[in-house]
Amino acid sequence: ATACVALAIILVAVGVWFSWRPESEANDEFVAAIKNGEFIPFYQPVIDIETGRMRGCEVLMRWRRPNGVLVSPGQFMAYAETYGHIFDMTRSLMMQTAREMSGYYGDNPDLKLSINLFAGHFLDREIVNDIKVIFGETDISYQQIVVEVTERHPLADLELARKIIAELQSLGVRVALDDVGTGHGGMAYLQKLGIDIIKIDKMFIDTIGMDDSSTTIVDSMVELADNLGMGIIAEGVEQQEQIDRLLDLGVTAAQGYHFAPPMPCGEFLEFAEKTEAE
Ligand code: C2E
Ligand code: CA
Ligand code: CA
Ligand code: CA
Repeated sequence: ATACVALAIILVAVGVWFSWRPESEANDEFVAAIKNGEFIPFYQPVIDIETGRMRGCEVLMRWRRPNGVLVSPGQFMAYAETYGHIFDMTRSLMMQTAREMSGYYGDNPDLKLSINLFAGHFLDREIVNDIKVIFGETDISYQQIVVEVTERHPLADLELARKIIAELQSLGVRVALDDVGTGHGGMAYLQKLGIDIIKIDKMFIDTIGMDDSSTTIVDSMVELADNLGMGIIAEGVEQQEQIDRLLDLGVTAAQGYHFAPPMPCGEFLEFAEKTEAE
């Protein structure tokens, strides 16, 4: 009987070890990648479609593997969020961004810099402190910073989120609601969180002009933003016709492959200079 119990314990232990090991290895690899600085910022310009000038950019994370392969957030963001790595990654991303953009943003005080946060950031005041510490030492002012909160994932504590947002706003940071119309929050988030800017999801921009319903939806988002005193940015603009339709509807800020994809620092600064010179 003792031998049987011992054998059972060994079998269970081996089973646990096998099922646990691959995950912990993946985790170790991920932690090492963070330490090695493999998660880096790319920058996508936001364009004023009335004037063609650049209004700023959105910081989008990339995983640059040691073999040079670039991995998009779709491949790793859910993992990073589930296992809590996203906090260190966001901190590291902001530090790199602060370093790379300080000079250019210091010289161009009207430019905005958008940073994506995830729902978990709105459960802890630490993010306010991170932004203070990281950007306080740079030539990027808090007034230039926009944080984006997505509607795709629910915010677990709306009241706390509202307080964190108010603290950020008291510094001068603005808050954008991302992926509007695709997710959970909708009108409740707009009303309760004190959002400054709404970002119209690519889904609606894709069919604008071709499809009456998306034109109507964008039209009502513009009206809503106007009535609530919020700014509005269209995402995923790929064609000139979309720009024409957006201008008709009163949208003046857009980002998308039509203007530029997300780019590493050097290319982004070249794009910015070229745009400025035009
Ligand atoms: P998002 O915040 O909605 O970012 C816009 C996504 O659309 C980006 O994908 C961008 O590369 C892509 N995009 C921009 N213009 C166009 C276009 O004209 N056509 C098409 N087809 N796509 C366009 P990306 O970089 O793969 O990021 C995907 C998502 O991952 C982001 O969606 C955001 O939710 C998340 N993400 C990216 N970086 C971060 C980050 O640093 N922190 C957090 N929490 N999430 C991030
Ligand atoms: Ca975003
Ligand atoms: Ca400063
Ligand atoms: Ca979006």
